[in-house]
Amino acid sequence: MKAVVIASGGVDSSTLLYKTVNDNYETYALTFIYGQKHRREIESAKKICEGLKVHHKVIDLSVLKDVLSGSALTDSGVEIPEVPETAEYYETLRATIVPNRNSIFLSIAIGYAVSIKANYIFFGAHHSDRGVYPDCRQEFVEAFEYAERLANDSTHLVISAPFVRMNKSEIVKLGAELGVPYKETWSCYKGGRIHCGVCSSCRERKRAFQEAGVVDPTEYER
Ligand SMILES: [Zn+2]
Repeated sequence: MKAVVIASGGVDSSTLLYKTVNDNYETYALTFIYGQKHRREIESAKKICEGLKVHHKVIDLSVLKDVLSGSALTDSGVEIPEVPETAEYYETLRATIVPNRNSIFLSIAIGYAVSIKANYIFFGAHHSDRGVYPDCRQEFVEAFEYAERLANDSTHLVISAPFVRMNKSEIVKLGAELGVPYKETWSCYKGGRIHCGVCSSCRERKRAFQEAGVVDPTEYER
């Protein structure tokens, strides 16, 4: 069984890569450069894939920055939010939405999968994403699978977000069992030398390790 996995270099997709290999899929990882403000996560994805000895391609879509503006992750005019988890937290997080990102990535991943005769396409959306990112919801995954089966005239294609009903701490627990080298993963939305510790992604990462009762190997600035 062949699977294409979207690998961002973060906690979720790195755990998913380990799970996919552990579940005996012949694994092909894809990492996308989409105009994000830094490349730390790309380097992390490379290290994780090298460690697992899986096929890995980095696809440069940085030209998309011209048409996918307005997100704090890609637009130099929009600050990365640092807010604590107050009532406005989810509102603020919307600044980190990159328009239609998962549809774009998945479309390419599915094209790749069809080319190499892989039937499985996995990505690392999880339950806590659903409040902010509409393209991380199970409803989206099912609808997209339906559309792509039609688009490719194939009833064999399976598009799945295996962690869609899990929260991040459950993912970290699973990853600890699978031996994921979390020190090599990158979550911070800023591209500093070490994790900032205060952006929403760093906060979520910290909390996941705490709740999972797993030692967090990450070095945080704050
Ligand atoms: Zn950060």
